[in-house]
Amino acid sequence: MKLEESRRKYFDLYNFVSDGYFTLNKEGIILEANLAAATLLGIERRKLINSTFIKYIDPSDRNKFHHHCMEVMQTSIKHTVEIKLLKNDNSSFYVHMDTLNILDDDNNFKEFRISITDITEIKTAAKEIESANKYNRSLIEASLDPLVTIGPDGKITDVNQSTEKVTGFSRNELIGTDFSNYFTEPKQARKSYLQVFKVGFVFGYPLEIKNKNGNVTPVLYNASVYKDEFGEVLGVFAAARDITETRKAENILKDYQNTLEEKVKIRTEELAKSNADLTHFAYIASHDLREPLRMITSFLQLLERRYADKLDHDANEFINFAVEGAKRLDNMINDLLEYSKITNKEKEFVPLKLENVLEEALMNLVVQIEESDAVITYDPLPTVNGDEKLLVMLFQNIIANAIKYRRNETPKIHISSIKENDHYVISINDNGIGIDQKYLTRIFTIFQRLHRNDEYDGTGIGLAIVENIVHQHGGEIWVESELGKGSTFYFTISNKKNEYTKYF
Ligand code: ADP
Repeated sequence: MKLEESRRKYFDLYNFVSDGYFTLNKEGIILEANLAAATLLGIERRKLINSTFIKYIDPSDRNKFHHHCMEVMQTSIKHTVEIKLLKNDNSSFYVHMDTLNILDDDNNFKEFRISITDITEIKTAAKEIESANKYNRSLIEASLDPLVTIGPDGKITDVNQSTEKVTGFSRNELIGTDFSNYFTEPKQARKSYLQVFKVGFVFGYPLEIKNKNGNVTPVLYNASVYKDEFGEVLGVFAAARDITETRKAENILKDYQNTLEEKVKIRTEELAKSNADLTHFAYIASHDLREPLRMITSFLQLLERRYADKLDHDANEFINFAVEGAKRLDNMINDLLEYSKITNKEKEFVPLKLENVLEEALMNLVVQIEESDAVITYDPLPTVNGDEKLLVMLFQNIIANAIKYRRNETPKIHISSIKENDHYVISINDNGIGIDQKYLTRIFTIFQRLHRNDEYDGTGIGLAIVENIVHQHGGEIWVESELGKGSTFYFTISNKKNEYTKYF
């Protein structure tokens, strides 16, 4: 068959395909082209025939095409090149070009046969993927957190610059090596990525990255598996958060706490010692003082009995004053002894119904209550942990005061309780004479009184005892009052069971 005929047949066959086919002579003139070729170049097929092919090659790729042709001429195998073509309207597009040389009967080069496949779409998609990849990479690199991907075999497949920095190894050194190598505890690290493969993720997994220079960085890892389109696990994506600064802050805080605790401990010990010294002193002093005082009192009384009719009025009055003074001193020493006993007393903290405690205190005050016609009411009171004797004394002292410091009307006293966070606030309200605002704290100090003895009897130790008892139960005490209207004493007591041990 003649060459022209075979060429025609060839092109008739390929008129209905989407790839373009050309035959060029060795001068590059188009001898034949199929319809698809004409369509791709945007030119009528008849105009294509006998035109030079090179004008449809984008100028930037003409050299490339030239080389391609040279290669084709030198061998009889098919050569492939990717090339940019120009359409008739001057727009360009990419093609995948296969070229063969056709030989004549004497085996001499006769012509080129070229097929072109439009790859513009593939190229655009590839470009998009490339720029997406670049974007992803720039995001990964922009992260200050060390990021790494690990294959199912535990080998590193990718890292960012932060990982290079924190480990001291380059990307090339890291890729392909075992992820767990770069931690102070490789076992733990291995456990972490095995867990990710098993569960799909880990959050806040604590590890320590070791740098090749010996530095150690504490981190928290978040990691999750990534899969291919068929759901097959390809590897693990892990991001570490450097927590060096948090750790530092935590350590400073811990140190601070420790020193504070140590200081508080020393201070508490010092206080406990000085308290013990003081109460011991008070105990000894009151004991020792009582003896000579008893002597003074009894001799004064003897003097009074035996010589009352022999002495004049003034002398008798002086003896009276002296007896009164000695009695008062005796009362004070007694109360001081009572006060020191409270501190020294071995406390028994047990659950106590405060209503029962209050009732016992009221029983002890029955004489005062009857004499004054006091009306005492109370709301339901809670059960607390405490020492029964001390708490009875506490209520007794406050209520005795409420009766003692009454006005010229029926004393009305009401006790109630409210719960606040981890404690109860107990209040004792009266309608008595009230307390001047400026003395509200002073009244809790030992021997501090606001009245003369001939106005109201007392030694000024009752509220000091009350405050001491409240403190020994871990609570606080205060008073609110208005002169001429009445007062309310408040104290707090823990509502936690078995909390008492901390007050010893
Ligand atoms: P004392 O009653 O022996 O003087 P306290 O320590 O019990 O000692 O009280 C100290 C002072 O507080 C009292 O002298 C009194 O002035 C004042 N006070 C205490 N309770 C009341 C009260 N319910 N109403 C008014 N004043 C009070």
